[in-house]
Amino acid sequence: EEKKSLSFVEQLVESDLAEGKNGGRIQTRFPPEPNGYLHIGHAKAICMDFGVAEKYNGICNLRFDDTNPSKEDTEYVDSILNDIKWLGFHWENVYYASDYFQQLWDFAVWMIKEGKAYIDEQSSEMIAEQKGTPTQPGTPSPYRDRPIEENLKLFNKMNTPDVEEGSMVLRAKLDMANPNMHFRDPIMYRIIHTPHHRTGTKWHAYPMYDFAHGQSDFFEGVTHSICTLEFVPHRPLYDKFIDELKAYKGETENINDNRPRQIEFNRLNLTYTVMSKRKLHALVDEHKVNGWDDPRMPTICGMRRRGYSPESIRNFIKSIGYTKFDALNDMALLEAAVRDDLNKRAIRVSAVVNPVKLVITNYPEGQTEEMEAINNPENEADGSHMITFSRNLWIEREDFMEDAPKKFFRMTPGKEVRLKNAYIVKCTGCTKDENGNITEIQAEYDPISKSGMEGANRKVKGTLHWVSADYCQKAEVRIYDRLFNVENPSADERDFRELLNPDSLTIIPECYVEKFAAEKKPGEYLQFQRIGYFMADLSSTPDHLVFNKTVGLKDTWSK
Ligand code: ATP
Ligand code: MG
Ligand code: MG
Repeated sequence: EEKKSLSFVEQLVESDLAEGKNGGRIQTRFPPEPNGYLHIGHAKAICMDFGVAEKYNGICNLRFDDTNPSKEDTEYVDSILNDIKWLGFHWENVYYASDYFQQLWDFAVWMIKEGKAYIDEQSSEMIAEQKGTPTQPGTPSPYRDRPIEENLKLFNKMNTPDVEEGSMVLRAKLDMANPNMHFRDPIMYRIIHTPHHRTGTKWHAYPMYDFAHGQSDFFEGVTHSICTLEFVPHRPLYDKFIDELKAYKGETENINDNRPRQIEFNRLNLTYTVMSKRKLHALVDEHKVNGWDDPRMPTICGMRRRGYSPESIRNFIKSIGYTKFDALNDMALLEAAVRDDLNKRAIRVSAVVNPVKLVITNYPEGQTEEMEAINNPENEADGSHMITFSRNLWIEREDFMEDAPKKFFRMTPGKEVRLKNAYIVKCTGCTKDENGNITEIQAEYDPISKSGMEGANRKVKGTLHWVSADYCQKAEVRIYDRLFNVENPSADERDFRELLNPDSLTIIPECYVEKFAAEKKPGEYLQFQRIGYFMADLSSTPDHLVFNKTVGLKDTWSK
């Protein structure tokens, strides 16, 4: 029973534990490259890496894979730290691949001395051309057999400001005919002159992913190096460089040798959005969205700003699971998880987003009453607050119809409705302007119809939300729709910019919220009753309130 619910990754980890590998030690890492903000795809990796460590009493370290200074920055480092914490995970240590530059360099020098690496001075185009195809062997570089001394000299030169980027690379001398293309003399080092955000201008030769990742795992004592499926073909090379590293260190194989094991799972892809950092960068840089934390972005900071809870993101990831097959996950599933979680924690408030005036003509001018409103029917401990009732109210325009069909249980002349937490009112008519637009609705209240009073018990089908026109605050409300018009923008032939939904953001400048809602801050989960889940935006001020719609109360995506 228990075994069945284990992911395949957990099964592998348990079998390693059962074999007594590494003395029962479990260590994982989450290895982001600090070249952008984390998105929900990263959250899937985070839940796995930290989750396995937590479950098996191991540790998970955070390691910044900072081997390409041309795209990296401390801005991204800071945001990554913040987002992981917000998701609810705790790392043991923070490491940087750049901490290992010297060790990696020394190891590369050893490889050259062993005749296992050489400097290639061909262009990257030529090197790519000579790689061959999976069914045809590649062509060896003319520099493949240059003398060891010359390789050492050139490798040192590679690490100076005097060499041009792209003028030479260090390659492993492996097998130009190997059916695994990654074995065809992979590049170990390339030249980058952009200063590094941590090591400055100390280095000019930088290790490639394949020559840094496995070794970093080994240096740290990682036991399980969990990554995504695109690294499956890299695994033999990952293992090969660790073999070499062990030979360099004079270590022999044994069951407690801390050899990291690479395990791959499927990436998270979501409908109507993109996960590629290149594309997300473009959206930000070209102002297609308002920054990395735009609530339409699939980034963790965007989802936080929009009002998603960390629990809802984690629950969604749990529900889709980990497999060996790439798939496209439905955005509607994520929204359902958000709705489910927010239903438990959101504070219910009154807000009118498409207001029309309602005057209670038999309620005295200037009189007010404080009505009790339950904060969260799902959680009694959340208590209640007071909402002010008065003669002049705002209600939703959609909640009134002059000539309504029989089944319309909202406000229409001659019929009764209940105003939430207040009285039963009977609509008496409406006023229109010269164009026929309704400017005001009139109703009369029944003074003994408040909850608990003798007139409260008669059957009234509709209950409407409202705010007092004199005791509310104006607010801007931002409504979001899918960012892209097509289900899978990444599979489309057209440029992704052409696929953007031009109506992904609707700003409603004049909504009205009760005072209690106006005091709510970013980070506080709200439900605007009968409308959806909302959260105050980071830009919201007491003088200009702004609320983001997180998600509607019902699924409006499925057809
Ligand atoms: P890009 O290729 O767009 O630059 P990346 O995947 O290389 O992004 P990293 O910062 O290197 O970004 O990712 C850190 C970790 O997160 C890696 O282990 C990677 O496999 C994992 N990861 C990234 N995207 C996803 C995704 N969509 N689903 C699951 N895991 C992901
Ligand atoms: Mg990467
Ligand atoms: Mg990548």
